Amino acid sequence: MSPLGHLAIGFAAKPITPMAPLWALLLASEVPDLLFLGLEAAGIEYQAITQTDLNQGLQIINPGSNPWSHGLFMTAVWSILIAGIAFFFFRNRRTSIVLGLMLLSHWVLDFLVHPPELPLLFDGSPLVGLGLWSSGFGLIISVILEIVLLAVGIAIYLRTRKRKSEKATV
Ligand SMILES: [Zn+2]
Repeated sequence: MSPLGHLAIGFAAKPITPMAPLWALLLASEVPDLLFLGLEAAGIEYQAITQTDLNQGLQIINPGSNPWSHGLFMTAVWSILIAGIAFFFFRNRRTSIVLGLMLLSHWVLDFLVHPPELPLLFDGSPLVGLGLWSSGFGLIISVILEIVLLAVGIAIYLRTRKRKSEKATV
C-alpha cells in the first residue's frame, strides 16, 4: 500500500494509546518501507520491475527481493523488537503492543494490495499477496480506499484531540 494507507492506521491508533506520540505511531507504520529504502541503498534488497496501466493494474515483470523489510517472518521480528523498545521507553504494555501492531499492520495492508511478492520467510519461500493492485479496477479501488482510510484515520485522531481540549478548558 502507499504511505497514505499506512499513516491512516497510525492516526486511528492514537486515541487508544494516549501515551504514544503521534510521530511514533506514524513512523512505526512505515518501518518496512523505510527499511526497504535503506536495504535497497545498501544493495541487499531490490525492487521488482513492474508495469502499471489502467487495464491490467500492476504487473510484475521481474521479481524483486524484500525478505528483510517485507517478509512476514521478519516483519513479526521487527514488530516484537519495536514493542520491546517501546516498552523500555514508555513502561506501558498497551503502548508497546500497539506500536508493535502498527508495524505489523503495514504487512497486512501490503498483503491486501500487492501481487504475490511478499515472502513468508526469506528468498525462496512462498510469496504471498492478495493482489488488489493486479487489475485496473482494483487499482482504482485501492486509491479510493486509501483516501477514505486516511480521512477516517485523521477524523478519529482529531475527534479525540478535540475532546481532550474541551476537557482541559472545563
Ligand atoms: Zn510496504
